[in-house]
Amino acid sequence: MTGTRPFTDSAAPGRVLAVDIGGTKLALRAVDAGVAVHERTVPWPAGGDAAGQSDLLAASVAEAVGVLGGAPVRIGVAAAPNVGADGCVVSWPNRPEWVGRSLRAPFVGSGAEVLFGDDATLAGLAEARSTGSRDLVYLGIGTGVGGGLVSGGRLLTGAWGTAGELGHLVVDPQGPRCRCGTRGCLQAVVSAEALAAHASAARGLATTTAELVAGVRRSDPWAERTLDHAADLIARALRVLVELVQPAHVRIGGGLGAALAPLPGRIARRLSETARPGRPLPEIGSAFHGPHSSLAGAALLAAHGPSLIGGADPLHGGSPA
Ligand SMILES: [Zn+2]
Repeated sequence: MTGTRPFTDSAAPGRVLAVDIGGTKLALRAVDAGVAVHERTVPWPAGGDAAGQSDLLAASVAEAVGVLGGAPVRIGVAAAPNVGADGCVVSWPNRPEWVGRSLRAPFVGSGAEVLFGDDATLAGLAEARSTGSRDLVYLGIGTGVGGGLVSGGRLLTGAWGTAGELGHLVVDPQGPRCRCGTRGCLQAVVSAEALAAHASAARGLATTTAELVAGVRRSDPWAERTLDHAADLIARALRVLVELVQPAHVRIGGGLGAALAPLPGRIARRLSETARPGRPLPEIGSAFHGPHSSLAGAALLAAHGPSLIGGADPLHGGSPA
């Protein structure tokens, strides 16, 4: 729902650039003095040519820097892949050709400080900040399934900084194998690919995610079955999270998650049917930023710098610690 909504963050330095490197698209937002001056989404086709993909990223960054009229102070990058401290890709199941390759290199020409963060983690921070929630679970459903956990106003990062990988919570031990090797991870059963496969079986016809979204809008029975299937599996993961971190709010985002408007209500119903009696349940809704939560999080990272992740109370303290 952001579009080119002005980005008003008092911590924002003069010029910053936010970049979201997702599974199938690049999104960029250039911000000057708190106002978005350039926003662009570029298809980011997968398929073997890492050098070409790197060139496309570099050209997109150069275009945004050109609109800014000078080097940004900082670039915040929300990244789907796992990126090491040296800027090289450690793992990227959808683009294995990138492993070992520098994701920092396409930004070198910008002259800016470049900071990377997990796309779903940053999305969780952005959702917590925009909704004013101190206890929020973000779940992003798209090419992959990612999560971000904010508890007591702080991001939960864990001992090694990568806590909150909700896509790899096991919700169906007998289920299909996940790309990580485990059976029945949430990602293996409710990613865009998995839900398209479920819809295809329910409909008896090869079905894309766009057709699934349209079917849900029309309340087609086959689409309803896939929606209920997804809601049931997500509610299983949330039931664990309710006991573990007691979120007040859950936000469902990502390209597919944000497009399935009835999904949060369906999850809430399923969760209430299966929850422990007397347990307070979170309010569940669609992401405030629609499919752009990761980009909003990248903009926060660009504005606040490294203290955003792991700061004392980076969300609500007014200024980073
Ligand atoms: Zn997994």
